[in-house]
Amino acid sequence: MISAHRAWAEIDLNAFRRNLLCARQRAQGAQIWPVLKANAYGHGAVPIARVCAEEKVPRIGVGDSSEALQLRYSGVSMPLLVLGTIIDAEIPDLLHHRIEVGVHSESRVHSLGQLAAQHGTQLGVHLKVDTGMGRLGVRPEAVLRVARAIVEEPALEFCGFMTHFSSSQGAHSQHTDGQQALFLSAAEEVREALGSLPTLHCANSAALFSGLRPLGDAVRPGISLYGILPREICREVPLEPVLSLHTQLVFIKDIPAGTAVGYDARWTSHRPTRLATLPIGYNDGIPFRLGLSGRGQVLLRGQRCPIVGAVSMDYCTIDITHVHNASIGDKATLIGQDGCNMLTAADMAQAADTIPYEITCRLGSRVQRVYRPTTPSPSQVVS
Ligand SMILES: *Cc1c(COP(=O)(O)O)cnc(C)c1O
Repeated sequence: MISAHRAWAEIDLNAFRRNLLCARQRAQGAQIWPVLKANAYGHGAVPIARVCAEEKVPRIGVGDSSEALQLRYSGVSMPLLVLGTIIDAEIPDLLHHRIEVGVHSESRVHSLGQLAAQHGTQLGVHLKVDTGMGRLGVRPEAVLRVARAIVEEPALEFCGFMTHFSSSQGAHSQHTDGQQALFLSAAEEVREALGSLPTLHCANSAALFSGLRPLGDAVRPGISLYGILPREICREVPLEPVLSLHTQLVFIKDIPAGTAVGYDARWTSHRPTRLATLPIGYNDGIPFRLGLSGRGQVLLRGQRCPIVGAVSMDYCTIDITHVHNASIGDKATLIGQDGCNMLTAADMAQAADTIPYEITCRLGSRVQRVYRPTTPSPSQVVS
């Protein structure tokens, strides 16, 4: 069947659901708080959040208040946590829509406490400890001071105590061991001083699937729920890719040897070649470098075809000389399965010298998201 879309991503919501169950089995009783930042890593936050709600997850992690609001406006009413930090201009939205946030300083704690009191609401905060990421978070020696400041603000609710690991190797890395030790001792210090502790959460996908112990009270998997994990982490995990990426052939032509293709003539045919043009480019999230490395591939009629020449804004070209009977309108697969062949987001990332996170996050808004099973339109989602 000829597709109505120039380029589309198929999102298998049941695969996401099964990945969630897989994470749940690994989590040994810890709560799963799925991470849906960056539009659910490019998969579409609202449909993914609806699956999370159906599966009764207790909380969702987002990247900023605009992502949280998008979910609220779509009828998602469960607790939402802005995982990183906010700028002051985001505070009114947090208060109005009951969105929780990570805090990193006493001054932010006081200003949030005052504003929440003025607004007449209780705002949930999670104290983030910097145990070795070096980006956000309170240094361990200042943790107790900030924790005390939180409990002294009547309008703040101390919901969580968290840190974030930097290693993509999870528990296989000594850096993670060091971070975890700092985290646990900071938690112990707070528990001794204040008599209690809120929900402890530290593990991302790499930590969860590499067998980190103890896991704490909740885990925050992102990439793994979309079916992507570094192979070194664990070979036996039955995670399934959620997203596949497709386009269709819009033009086919035969060129003689010695013909330059694409911007700056970065590729020249060395034999008579049959080329196909695909209506997908870097504006759609196909990395520019994929055309330069010579390692970019696309599946057509079950066969691998190299991307040739530079990827341009709206188009790229592939060599289909070896594919019989290719015709205009044929489906081409950039991520996903076709016949016996399969290309993953990790394959594309490797060929473009980047990481799989960047591949799915950067899928452009022109790429039509097609959900299976189909979901109601956003207007029907609002309850
Ligand atoms: C993005 C993020 C996660 C999820 O990380 P993955 O590697 O995708 O599992 C967890 N915690 C925080 C604070 C994050 O920012």
